[in-house]
Amino acid sequence: MAHPEHAHEQKPAGGPRVLRLSEKNPKVRTVVMERGPLGIERTFLPAIIKGLGITVRHFFGNVTRREQTQTIQYPDEKCVYPPRYRGLHRLMRRQDDSVRCVACMMCPTVCPAHCITIIPGERADSNEKFPERFEIDELRCVVCGLCVEACPCDAIRMDSGIHMTPVEFRGDAVLAKVDLMKRGALSTAIQGGRGGDWRDHEPPERGPESLVPAAPR
Ligand code: SF4
Ligand code: SF4
Repeated sequence: MAHPEHAHEQKPAGGPRVLRLSEKNPKVRTVVMERGPLGIERTFLPAIIKGLGITVRHFFGNVTRREQTQTIQYPDEKCVYPPRYRGLHRLMRRQDDSVRCVACMMCPTVCPAHCITIIPGERADSNEKFPERFEIDELRCVVCGLCVEACPCDAIRMDSGIHMTPVEFRGDAVLAKVDLMKRGALSTAIQGGRGGDWRDHEPPERGPESLVPAAPR
C-alpha cells in the first residue's frame, strides 16, 4: 500500500493519476482525470443528431404504420376491459325490485377511503333495514373492491364495466342511491348468505349490456 504522502507519484498503467489516498480507506482515492483533445465528440453533436434521428424515425413510423403505436384513438376506439375489471359501483335489486342493501354498514366500515355514506331506515314490511341514503364519492374511491368483498348479501358490485367519466363539479362525482340503482340488476343471492354459491344461479347476462334501468325504491 502506498503512503498517502507519496500517492501523488502513482500513475498505474492505463489508469488516472492518483493525487491522494484516504487515510481511513486506501481504496478511496483522489485522481486527476486527463481530458483528451477537444474533438467533435466533446460537443455532443453526434449524440444529439443520432437521438433526433431516432425520434424522427419513430414519429414517421407511427404516422404511416400504426401497428407499433401503443396508444388508441379514445373515445372512437375503446379498450376491452377484462372480466374482473372494477368499474363504477352499482346497487343490486331483489325480486320485488327493491334494493338488496340492508344498511349493515360493513362497506363504509371497511372502505379505506371513507367515501361511502349510508343513512339507514327501517323497512315497513320486515325487521330489516334499508339505506334511506346511499352515496359513494367516486373521486375519493380508490377502486380497491373491499366494499364488494365485505357485503354479506351481494348488494353492491363493481362489475358494471363502466369507468368514471370526468366531471366539471366536485359534487357530480358523488353518486346517489338513484344513480347506483340505475345500473343495478336482479341478484339471486340468498339473503343472509345461506345455501349454495349465488354465482351458480347468476343469470347469464352480465356487464354493462345487462344493466336494467328501473326506478329505485
Ligand atoms: S372500492 Fe374501495 S375505496 Fe371504493 S368505495 Fe369500495 S371500499 Fe371504498
Ligand atoms: S355491505 Fe352491503 S348490505 Fe351492508 S351496507 Fe354495504 S352494500 Fe349495504
